[in-house]
Amino acid sequence: MTVAELQTLHDGLLRARAELVDAGAFEVKAEMDSPVASARDEDEAPLVEMGQAIASARNIERIERIQKIDDALRRLVENPDEYGLCSRCGEPIPVRRLALMPFATSCVPCQSSREVTPHGPGRRKITDYR
Ligand SMILES: [Zn+2]
Repeated sequence: MTVAELQTLHDGLLRARAELVDAGAFEVKAEMDSPVASARDEDEAPLVEMGQAIASARNIERIERIQKIDDALRRLVENPDEYGLCSRCGEPIPVRRLALMPFATSCVPCQSSREVTPHGPGRRKITDYR
């Protein structure tokens, strides 16, 4: 991968991260304004709770995404030679794929074989490390 490509991916990661952080600030504020305490009758409470559950599921998803981005940024900065190599087969991940998913750690064939067999041979057991 060229320095320019790495730079582009690095900028993209930073931008995506900033957007996620901004979205989070907005969502937290929205949650604080939500009428939890002022729900007028008990019929409204389950809806409010459901909304909160959805919001916190989104928060978790967003935090996981930020962590993935941070992880990708660290790999990119600390080990640019290995960034973009598939963690399973070691082949370079196409730059096109990285531009869309800069935090991808495997190439499309490896990713899809993992999706087809989520509990297959790709998943290591603790005993494999002994
Ligand atoms: Zn691969």
